[in-house]
Amino acid sequence: MRAPININRRGLMLVLSSPSGAGKTTIARQLLEMESDLHLSVSVTTRQRRPGEMDGRDYHFIDIEAFRLMINRDELLEHAKVFDHYYGTPREAVEKRLAVGQDILFDIDWQGTQQLRQRAESDLVSVFILPPDMRELEKRLHTRAQDSAEVVAKRMSKASDEISHWAEYDYVVVNDDMERCLANVHAILRAERLKRHRGQGLVEFVKSLREGL
Ligand code: 5GP
Repeated sequence: MRAPININRRGLMLVLSSPSGAGKTTIARQLLEMESDLHLSVSVTTRQRRPGEMDGRDYHFIDIEAFRLMINRDELLEHAKVFDHYYGTPREAVEKRLAVGQDILFDIDWQGTQQLRQRAESDLVSVFILPPDMRELEKRLHTRAQDSAEVVAKRMSKASDEISHWAEYDYVVVNDDMERCLANVHAILRAERLKRHRGQGLVEFVKSLREGL
């Protein structure tokens, strides 16, 4: 098979949102494994690190003062308060990657997605993942077992709030089966990479085709 022709393009921002427990984190991890050109945006957060989480890999864990400083210096592309804690997306890493044609995966909520849309709509591809039903969602939150019963109850009550924002997203995928859901999100990413407006090198490429060079 002939080697692929790489046409210069701008990177895209793939956002995955869902209520906690809908399987978004698993989908995100698998996608990152499948696609070496996809990079996770590591958020900053003021919440406590959970067992198994690693600073710099899952989040940058910072205190409220450092978070405020980042806002004041305009170092966050978006930020929001979710479940009593603050979360935000560091700007610099994202902008550098987009400019060199690398794609970025975001695991952020609807508030962050709205802000990204306002700031960079043409780079944004937003996907909302729905659970197959609410009982399944509760079961997943319990079996995850990293949070207290109180936190689980709070997340359940927040789930329907989060779900109410489904219609603001470009794509909606039901996670009734992890493999199927992953395949659908992967298909979205592959198709979105081919959108004409991202292909900065297309004009040159077509010109060279027509000129026979
Ligand atoms: P968790 O504390 O379970 O890791 O995340 C709680 C929620 O915060 C999830 O819905 C997650 O998508 C969202 N979240 C994580 N990082 C960010 C961020 O940088 N910005 C926004 N807006 N939401 C985030």
